Amino acid sequence: MKEIIMYTTSTCPHCKTAKEYLNSKGFHYIEKNASVDPVARNEMAAKKLMGVPSFVIGDETIVGFDRQKIEALLDYTVEACPKCGQRARVPKGKGTVRITCKQCQNTFTLKTKTM
Ligand SMILES: [Zn+2]
Repeated sequence: MKEIIMYTTSTCPHCKTAKEYLNSKGFHYIEKNASVDPVARNEMAAKKLMGVPSFVIGDETIVGFDRQKIEALLDYTVEACPKCGQRARVPKGKGTVRITCKQCQNTFTLKTKTM
């Protein structure tokens, strides 16, 4: 599954909004703060990312907080267990899949979203 890498700075308000959005969606991401991390600054320069927040998802980069683009590039969605609400990453484009909840062991079927 594709990981989200998010480049941020300490003072950027949109980075905060983006983090809240990713957390609320249950998307897993790795934050690299260019204000405190020189490696992150070098990576941003190498990838020609000229602003924050910027995102690397698979081979694609996004500069600026664009929810639709982020969700379109991900190869999974996050779905909640109907019994206990525990969230799980579900791949896209797999038709109907059977999921076993890691928390309560409930099994349920789910129609996955198209890619
Ligand atoms: Zn559950």
